[in-house]
Amino acid sequence: MDNDCLFCRIVAGEIPATVVHETATTLAFRDIDPKAPVHVLVIPKAHHRDVLALAGDPAAAADLLAASAAVAQAEGLTGDGFRLIFNTGGHGGQEVFHVHAHVVGGRALGPMVS
Ligand code: C5P
Repeated sequence: MDNDCLFCRIVAGEIPATVVHETATTLAFRDIDPKAPVHVLVIPKAHHRDVLALAGDPAAAADLLAASAAVAQAEGLTGDGFRLIFNTGGHGGQEVFHVHAHVVGGRALGPMVS
């Protein structure tokens, strides 16, 4: 755990979040500033800075992908579709440097890049 990391502190229960899915290695919670009717963040419990770092831990990456799919299924998104986003680095718009997948859906989404 990184004590300076917001999402590590959510995993530790030090900061509240609305958890919708949890496994031994992952946690999923609703984004506090949702951009769509469904907007859930899925994170590994272990700290990895970004998706580039996560790629160095294939088991953790697979767990995160499986958890994201489970969230999409549970939120009813698999019929009409959804978006799975990893913002990465400055140009990618990453604000929290603990890797997280945004599961976004519940409406038709606009252009992918803005
Ligand atoms: O991909 P990026 O790093 O920009 O996304 C961070 C996300 O974390 C934002 O969508 C923000 O609303 C969300 N957030 C949250 N709970 C917090 C702090 C940030 O859901 N306590």
